[in-house]
Amino acid sequence: MLGPVGVALVDGAVGLAEHFLNLIGEEWAPARSGETFEDRNPARWSELVGAFPQSGPEDVDAAVKTARAAYRGWRATPPPRRGEILLRAGLFLEQRKEELARTMTREMGKVVEEARGDVQEAIDMAFFAAGLGRRPFGEAIPSELPDKFCFTWREPVGVVGVITPWNFPVAVPSWKLFPALMAGNAIVFKPAEDSPLCGQRLVEVLLEAGLPPGVLNLVQGTGEQAGAAMVAHPDVNCISFTGSTEVGRQIATQCGRSLKRVGLELGGKNAIVVMDDADLELAVDGAVWAAFGTTGQRCTAASRMIVQRGVAADFVDALKQRAEGLRVGDGLQEGVQVGPIVNERQLRRVHGYTAVAREERATVLTGGEVLAEGPLGEGWFYSPTIFTDVRPEMRVAREEIFGPSTSVLVADSLEQALEYANSTVYGLSLSIYTNDVRRAFTAMRELEAGIVYVNAPTIGAEIQLPFGGVKQTGNGHREAGSTAMDEFTEWKSIYVDYSGRLQRAQIDT
Ligand code: NAD
Repeated sequence: MLGPVGVALVDGAVGLAEHFLNLIGEEWAPARSGETFEDRNPARWSELVGAFPQSGPEDVDAAVKTARAAYRGWRATPPPRRGEILLRAGLFLEQRKEELARTMTREMGKVVEEARGDVQEAIDMAFFAAGLGRRPFGEAIPSELPDKFCFTWREPVGVVGVITPWNFPVAVPSWKLFPALMAGNAIVFKPAEDSPLCGQRLVEVLLEAGLPPGVLNLVQGTGEQAGAAMVAHPDVNCISFTGSTEVGRQIATQCGRSLKRVGLELGGKNAIVVMDDADLELAVDGAVWAAFGTTGQRCTAASRMIVQRGVAADFVDALKQRAEGLRVGDGLQEGVQVGPIVNERQLRRVHGYTAVAREERATVLTGGEVLAEGPLGEGWFYSPTIFTDVRPEMRVAREEIFGPSTSVLVADSLEQALEYANSTVYGLSLSIYTNDVRRAFTAMRELEAGIVYVNAPTIGAEIQLPFGGVKQTGNGHREAGSTAMDEFTEWKSIYVDYSGRLQRAQIDT
């Protein structure tokens, strides 16, 4: 049987809460310790979404052993057959899109229209990954010697530990799970503790699509317990992690000790550059969407606006007006444009940055307030916030805030704007608004980022292009696009000599 089993009352909850389980092989099971954690609606904190297993090293170990046992059979399954399962998963996701989107909004707060987009990204990824099953897995390459045949192929790495954040709770896991499965790996998946139900639903869809038992195992829990146990487990061959740079650094350090393969997609401090020749209305539209869409809780959110002096006043006026007109509320309600912050800790952090801005003598032009009046007081809401008089060395211009707060910096030239744009430790997504082709191409070349947009905001990646960042946004991997399977495969080079004699490369040529 799939899905939650049993219903029990959880302390402090309003009404009855469902208890959800881990999936180890074919068995849905609680954590060995019997402990659970609560998943609550950030728009209405009294509403309990469910209780989930608080897993520890024993649960992770059972999941890894199960994945290892299933790996051989899955690896031997022809890639086109694997692809058919992913195709079916994409079709099931299409059927369940609305239900999944509403679950997502309830669980982590993003407005339902954006939640539909999150599920759509997973659908796109499923179809894309399914197609990879009938694409080449290697190349034939000429030998320097006669009667010798050389080729390469991709092999799965083995058991992959997938650890994901809450802000794209269906899309981000799909970028990892689908290509990793396509490549023939077995998986232990730990969703974020703020979005465990979306993680479970995604797993259910894959099982319904025909994934054999044990190939994908679900272990719920915190990063410190379940996540860390996966990273430490000697039989996990690869960790695929998306999350904060701070946690990514810890994981990389630990994986480095055992030389475990690790793919990291980390934080960002993305910027939109607006030149004085830009279409200002278009730039403001992009700025509002990139700064306040998803409540600023996107790794690609624009938390800096770098505006050329000549248009700075007009841009700031328009941005302020638009920010103040945004409707904040429960993302399931019609007309709401900005949902809640994911949890109280994150709300405090975002508000803390407003205090930092004031201490640094930036101006809080608008916002900067915890919204607690009326129904908003039941959740974790923050007003769309703009800081002006910001200089590049200030913390609000350098550190990831991950909320609806953006800083405006004024630059005197293209060179200075690009220098400001590049002046953080991150390098995920940067954008420029200009109608001057020379400025556009200079920016494309000079911006230090994995993703660059021209006359479009910093958010809006499509799955058929590689996704990832430079500098401390990652460790050189790219997800999706032509690189989708790189993180999850090893190359094998094969030489077949059919000459019947010893041929020495570099010598007998
Ligand atoms: P986070 O780093 O706190 O947690 C991410 C995941 O790691 C969660 O599942 C968590 O349980 C787990 N985790 C935490 N500590 C761990 C540990 N010691 N060992 C193993 N696992 C551990 O991040 P978050 O708050 O969930 O997500 C927000 C962050 O994610 C932001 O920094 C954002 O920029 C980043 N992000 C990056 C991308 C990208 O593609 N570059 C995409 C989305 C989000």
